[in-house]
Amino acid sequence: MPVHLISGGYANTYLIEDGDSFVAVDVGTSLAASKTHTYLSRRSIDTACLRIVTATHFHIDHIGGIPRIVHLFPTIRVCFSAMVEDYLAGRGKICLFSPATWLKGLLPVFAPQADHLKNTAAALWSDKVAIPLPFLRGLLPSNYRAECILDEGQSIPALPHWELIRAPGHTPDSVCFYSSSERALISGDTILNMKGSGELNRFCCDPATIRKSFKKLSALPIEHMYPGHGRPLPNLDGLGAVAQ
Ligand SMILES: [Zn+2]
Repeated sequence: MPVHLISGGYANTYLIEDGDSFVAVDVGTSLAASKTHTYLSRRSIDTACLRIVTATHFHIDHIGGIPRIVHLFPTIRVCFSAMVEDYLAGRGKICLFSPATWLKGLLPVFAPQADHLKNTAAALWSDKVAIPLPFLRGLLPSNYRAECILDEGQSIPALPHWELIRAPGHTPDSVCFYSSSERALISGDTILNMKGSGELNRFCCDPATIRKSFKKLSALPIEHMYPGHGRPLPNLDGLGAVAQ
């Protein structure tokens, strides 16, 4: 049940393979969606095997490629955590940073990437719902219907060996995906790895809450961590070496 990394979008895109199913996590730009399609095609994997696309949280660099992936994989389901429903319906607000805070937090993460200009253009025009620039929000329609059904303690469709863990702090809706059999954690933007041994994200809506989430995650046996940004960390002995 490997986890495949598709790099080159804003955030890391991961494909979780479980049996004959794949689930895509954090398809941040249309470029990441196209790369996902190429990756599976080269391995002669039928498009129908990519059953679900989901996200660790509802920020543009993690969901901006969903319109494109829905186009490329016509049978795919878009499944988010339950908290996203209010946001999609305009009833609730998931933490969006001010444009200045976005730039301060995102530039160090995005600038080292080879395709950052291409990705920036793709992200700004890819979806209306989480665009960091308020004057652009609402101008572009989403082309997909989302099911906001994922929550802690409930199984993830097509992924019997993985569970969702709520990890608020970076945003209230932040989640991680965890496999106890694989001892693997997809950490989203709760834990990044821009420095080599992993670090708790300081760019967050609620610093006290993200520390509580970190404590919760630290209790898990984790050997492989797949962060939202930065290289995956294999062969860990828990999260002890991660900087807080
Ligand atoms: Zn991110």
